[in-house]
Amino acid sequence: MPLALAHANLNPRKLLIDGSWVDARSGKTFRPTNPATAEPLCEVAQADAEDIGLAVAAARRAFDEGPWPRMSGAERGRILFRLSELMYARAKEIAELETIDAGKPISESLNVDVPMAAEVIQYYAGWASKVTGETLPPRGESFIYTLREPTGVVGAIVPWNFPLLLAMWKVGPALATGCTMVLKPSETTPLSVLKVGELALEAGVPAGVLNVVPGPGRTAGNALVEHPGVDKIAFTGSTAVGQDIMRRAAGTVKRLSLELGGKSPNVVFADADLDAAARGAVAGIFYNKGEVCAAGSRVLVERKAQEELVEKMKARAAKLTQGDTLDPKTRLGPQISEAQLESVLSYVKRGKEEGAKLALGGERNQAAGKGYFLQPTIFMDAKNEMTIAQEEIFGPVATVIPFDDLDDALRKANGVRYGLAAGVWTRDVKKAHRVAHAIRAGTVWVNSYNVYDPGAPFGGYKQSGFGRELGKIALDGYTESKTVWIDLG
Ligand code: NAD
Repeated sequence: MPLALAHANLNPRKLLIDGSWVDARSGKTFRPTNPATAEPLCEVAQADAEDIGLAVAAARRAFDEGPWPRMSGAERGRILFRLSELMYARAKEIAELETIDAGKPISESLNVDVPMAAEVIQYYAGWASKVTGETLPPRGESFIYTLREPTGVVGAIVPWNFPLLLAMWKVGPALATGCTMVLKPSETTPLSVLKVGELALEAGVPAGVLNVVPGPGRTAGNALVEHPGVDKIAFTGSTAVGQDIMRRAAGTVKRLSLELGGKSPNVVFADADLDAAARGAVAGIFYNKGEVCAAGSRVLVERKAQEELVEKMKARAAKLTQGDTLDPKTRLGPQISEAQLESVLSYVKRGKEEGAKLALGGERNQAAGKGYFLQPTIFMDAKNEMTIAQEEIFGPVATVIPFDDLDDALRKANGVRYGLAAGVWTRDVKKAHRVAHAIRAGTVWVNSYNVYDPGAPFGGYKQSGFGRELGKIALDGYTESKTVWIDLG
């Protein structure tokens, strides 16, 4: 019998458009599923193109005529600080929603996703009063300066693996700079961001500034991407959909930031602290059941250390309790859906066929519950050319690939189409820096993995996308630079 919700409820949810909760124009609803129990949750209004049109019109009015971009940065900051405080105060409720919707163990939602999301809003609340242009050296009689102005209406499209956190990575800098937003969560996981929409109104975010419209990608998502009233699309999701968005956004020359897929290398040298490296390798691939864009899904290990590292990883993975995601002791949740589980299992089959050695797991875990649980899985003796070493599996499957020397490690680390993140484990500081500089990825963790801070930029090289989220640099993605020339002659 799954544990009951203690703080959240399962009342039906509507769309947030122009500060009001409304049904979809079509009257359509959908019911997301709890991945741990395979049971449907509450009814949620389903946005289609028409609802997106209304939400964009509201965001457009709020931007073109409303108070949000016109108030001082300090005032916007105060409202965003209030939102962040409300998120901290309601953390248990938001965490429960995230857990039942996305299949995250409550220990993760409550201790990681929700506080990190609140901290991101807090961080950008601080920036709201500090976005400035610059004064340039005069040329002749001209005085020249630049302004940073908000980009306008932002369409944010986010995936199901970190529904709240990845949305806040966009809401924070967009709202801090004075943009307004239409936020389309994944149709799989709308509940936590709908709750934040409610808190935003409570915090004093004016009507139309933040609209939340869950709906399918092919209807609601496309409508947002193609809408002429939207100035920028901030997207996180798969590389295939990112490519489609690039094509569709071309028609209206929209600004784009794309955070896409990954196949990140976690590179372990034999001189590393292998206990720490095993801990990092396990956290790197099994955190959030491997449904992490930056998952360390390729563990590159110096050949002579492979056996020892894999033994240590197996011992740690065996301790990851699977089961009811509302139980604080659960450490490894279910995959998001039956289809995702099937997809991961098909990669496991492929790995075996292509000759990698299955060192752990590889089966559905029926004992953990009715949901979509997969045993933590480790392949070893894999080759970088194999499908399981090249394609994003997006599940708890580590592909351990031995390498011979530093050059071989770098060749393999960079030998994929992605470049989102990487890890390096060594006690040799020179080697650590050499590898960190040579890997083409947006983040490199040395002797750690999967650590984040709102001030530390995150984003991809190569086909992992472009644009950076988090940090000061993300503000550039939500502002235009205007140059003003004053003739003083
Ligand atoms: P997805 O690309 O299928 O969907 C992401 C979002 O896009 C959803 O809201 C979906 O409704 C919407 N969408 C789908 N088709 C669309 C279309 N044609 N037009 C507009 N919107 C559309 O991805 P997913 O399965 O939800 O998430 C998993 C993927 O996200 C993985 O590839 C993962 O690596 C990636 N991801 C990347 C990062 C990062 O920061 N780089 C973070 C998390 C997830």
